Amino acid sequence: MSRVYNFSAGPSILPEKVLETAASEMLDYQGSGQSVMEMSHRSKVYDNIIKTAEADLREIMQIPDNYKVLFLQGGASSQFAMVPLNLMNGSGKADYVITGQWAKKAAAEGGRYGKVNVVASSADKTFSYIPKLDPSTFDKEADYFHICMNNTIYGTKYQTLPETGDVPLVADLSSCILSEPVDVSKFGVIYAGAQKNCGPAGLTIVIIREDLIGHARDITPTMFNYQTHADNGSMFNTPPCYAIYVFGLVLKWLRDDVGGLEKMAEINRNKAKLLYDFLDSSKLFKGTVVKEDRSLMNVPFVTGNEELDAKFVKEAAAAGFVNLKGHRSVGGMRASIYNAMPTEGVEKLVAFMKEFEAANA
Ligand code: PMP
Repeated sequence: MSRVYNFSAGPSILPEKVLETAASEMLDYQGSGQSVMEMSHRSKVYDNIIKTAEADLREIMQIPDNYKVLFLQGGASSQFAMVPLNLMNGSGKADYVITGQWAKKAAAEGGRYGKVNVVASSADKTFSYIPKLDPSTFDKEADYFHICMNNTIYGTKYQTLPETGDVPLVADLSSCILSEPVDVSKFGVIYAGAQKNCGPAGLTIVIIREDLIGHARDITPTMFNYQTHADNGSMFNTPPCYAIYVFGLVLKWLRDDVGGLEKMAEINRNKAKLLYDFLDSSKLFKGTVVKEDRSLMNVPFVTGNEELDAKFVKEAAAAGFVNLKGHRSVGGMRASIYNAMPTEGVEKLVAFMKEFEAANA
């Protein structure tokens, strides 16, 4: 067996230990004589899996008691609609900050259900920064304020949260959830697709303050109503059983092997620094994001020459560093260095980049 260093933006690398445990339990989960894939979601053994995953997430993220954790499907993209359907129920208006493709898509979906006010955008410089926000431009009547906390494609991240007062802050954490501690009490809703830091695709995690549940518009499909899932412990219908099981393994790894979120954040900061320090000193490679808004998870960079970029991506893949091509909308390269990417993987990538630079600069 030979495993590569996988820098994919998602679905992405998972901790090897998690994959090994899943493999060892594939045919017989803890003496049940069945794979988790084969189990009834109503069985006692599965009930324990989903409840433990929720309890572990609550412990690791220190989620306050007045928040519900929902395990849904449909990806973060479904949340682009679910948020307005459930929350755009007062003034019918919402504030959005446009920091990339995902934020743009979220705002477009919000606009189907009410009035979207674009508070700020970084489109003018290809989303290479997080716009400075002036709270006096926020709509005090807005039903919510939406941000995309970490912009997977462009490699930017909010370093501080907007002060939205009584207006609930709704945040897409798809590509940064569990990468460092967050103060959940500052948010009305957090949502994230699982396929980066949490597990396989198919699971969508929603963390929602209880008072925001139960006000969905009449037209809201039953499956798109947060209340449906909150009232039924994410078991209104068949949940993404196997993805939740793997998520549970990832949470155990994060707590027991890594040592929790503070420790994870320290490792992530160190990994990102290795790469950014090299980019800042390189004669060939350049980071594309302003320094103060750099993401810890997604690191885009370019050589300034498309042919050389392509050559780099090709040679890197041949050397075992895969999925380094930038998003199709921006080109260049992007190294996604999620929680499961070992420090050694980043060290080796930097060493490879140095060799490439020496041969091509
Ligand atoms: N938001 C962000 C920040 C993302 O990175 C992605 C996917 N890469 C999405 C939303 C869309 O997620 P999904 O494919 O789970 O719908």
